[in-house]
Amino acid sequence: MTASSKYTKELKRRHTILRLLSENYPTAQCALYHQNAFQLLVATILSAQCTDGMVNKVTPKLFAVAPTPQAMVSLPLPTLQTIIKPTGFFVNKAKMIHQMSQQLLERFDGQVPSSMEELLTLSGVGRKTASVVLGAAFGKAEGIVVDTHVSRLSQRLQFVASKTADRIEKELMNWVPRELWIPLSHQLIHHGRNVCTARKPNCKGCFLSNYCPSAHQSDTNQTQRSKLNKNDRTH
Ligand code: SF4
Repeated sequence: MTASSKYTKELKRRHTILRLLSENYPTAQCALYHQNAFQLLVATILSAQCTDGMVNKVTPKLFAVAPTPQAMVSLPLPTLQTIIKPTGFFVNKAKMIHQMSQQLLERFDGQVPSSMEELLTLSGVGRKTASVVLGAAFGKAEGIVVDTHVSRLSQRLQFVASKTADRIEKELMNWVPRELWIPLSHQLIHHGRNVCTARKPNCKGCFLSNYCPSAHQSDTNQTQRSKLNKNDRTH
């Protein structure tokens, strides 16, 4: 097989996976509870090192008392810390949310900006948070959100060779069509939570198994481990 036909075959495999993900998760979307761009920005900051489920337990209480940047800066820091404590790293997160709200009031008339460049000037906002907000609140595909699920699945599906989020995003952006940048993250996150989990991927029940180079590898590893354990016991 020539290098070019190998490349075409590989690209075909990847695009088949993209199609299957779109067909199986046509409505996958951001799981963070929010009613506007500001609330999504706050929820995304809170989601660092925390599950979306826990963030969704905390944010309704928070947005009931502080639904806007103005209300957020008026909320005493200790009160904010107490409300968001279950999400972890609450001292730092509270500080960032306060600063970010203040910056929105001072520089953006209380509105969340809709460009990557401007979002990155806000406290607590990195490229991942900015991409989440741009995609889910403004429908703008400026990047691909790479969280722990997207990172793991991109590697298992051999979409990328890199292991760090920044590089994985760049590699994905090189070949994934731009119109799929937003849905692909949501679809991979959904698949990672429900089928291809970190500890025990359910390859038998996975609609991608015919196209996934990592399919059934954990079963093989498990079998090999069991055989080794058995041998240990008989020797
Ligand atoms: S076949 Fe297995 S390893 Fe591959 S995506 Fe599906 S669950 Fe994950």
